[in-house]
Amino acid sequence: AEDRLISAERATEDADAALRPKSLSEFIGQEAARANLQVFIEAAKARGEALDHVLFFGPPGLGKTTLAQIVAKEMGVGFRATSGPVIAKAGDLAALLTNLEEGDVLFIDEIHRLNPVVEEVLYPAMEDRALDIIIGEGPSARSVRIDLPAFTLVGATTRQGLLTTPLRDRFGIPVRLNFYTVEELLLVVTRAARLLGLAIAEDGAREVARRARGTPRVAGRLLRRVRDFANVAGAETVDAKTADAALTRLEVDALGLDAMDRRYLTMIADIYKGGPVGVETLAAGLSEPRDTIEDVIEPYLIQLGLIARTARGRQLNDRGWKHLGLTPPAGTVD
Ligand code: ADP
Repeated sequence: AEDRLISAERATEDADAALRPKSLSEFIGQEAARANLQVFIEAAKARGEALDHVLFFGPPGLGKTTLAQIVAKEMGVGFRATSGPVIAKAGDLAALLTNLEEGDVLFIDEIHRLNPVVEEVLYPAMEDRALDIIIGEGPSARSVRIDLPAFTLVGATTRQGLLTTPLRDRFGIPVRLNFYTVEELLLVVTRAARLLGLAIAEDGAREVARRARGTPRVAGRLLRRVRDFANVAGAETVDAKTADAALTRLEVDALGLDAMDRRYLTMIADIYKGGPVGVETLAAGLSEPRDTIEDVIEPYLIQLGLIARTARGRQLNDRGWKHLGLTPPAGTVD
């Protein structure tokens, strides 16, 4: 994720990057987030100041990295990207920070995965734009303060609650990203098809949009796979029938759920009689990390009303049973 986006090789290497909108006005959906960012960016520019620190949170693939790049573009400043797990030592972060230029955006993806020692360095950097460095060891050690240029930290995480309180409190602009509507994804798919040079009928685009799990990244991936099937089948234009055939081959069902989603639902239904069942138990049964279950699989199933998170664990709703083609036991919530 950096700003060298437009070369021909890069489009095939990093297909996501090729589809990234480059300005706020080109960015589809997330109306509230966009309108607020527009105001904060304009105000900061008018005052000639760096933008306050921004935290984007929400499920993967909703546009956090894209918006971080857009923030830098709209502010007219440089963009540096890294991610929480990559910054191993306090010195690595210090090196990044001291290399920034006035106003730059430093993007830290998966910021909740920063190591605590590194996170400590970030507090004064964010608050006072300063770095406290310990020089020497033992009794002769002393702390030296280095001033940093005014910069904007843009953090991304799946859930706001994953951040420690002191880190969360230092973001002046927290921005939640939500799942996209089918109408918004229709625009995303149509735009992506145009960029890929793919002829697609409106009903074909709608079929992809409907089955994209509310997520632009998924929409882009599905569209590329649909294009493969259409090419091989010799279809000139992707219509709903072509799209449906391709998506069915990919095991993406009518609601956009994939094989993993269905394994999750089936496990609650078959083994736990609809639940409630703890997330750790599900994680063990599915051999998936708990984070993947909570951050990738569950949010969309909850959004669709197929499952509920209760104090005693995960429960299959009436709609969940029906989606599996099963009869819910008496007393199931709908
Ligand atoms: P995240 O950082 O939240 O995981 P990204 O910013 O990497 O998500 O976006 C994933 C993909 O979805 C990229 O290819 C991006 O171009 C596309 N995308 C995300 N949001 C939008 C949007 N609002 N309009 C069009 N494409 C989008």
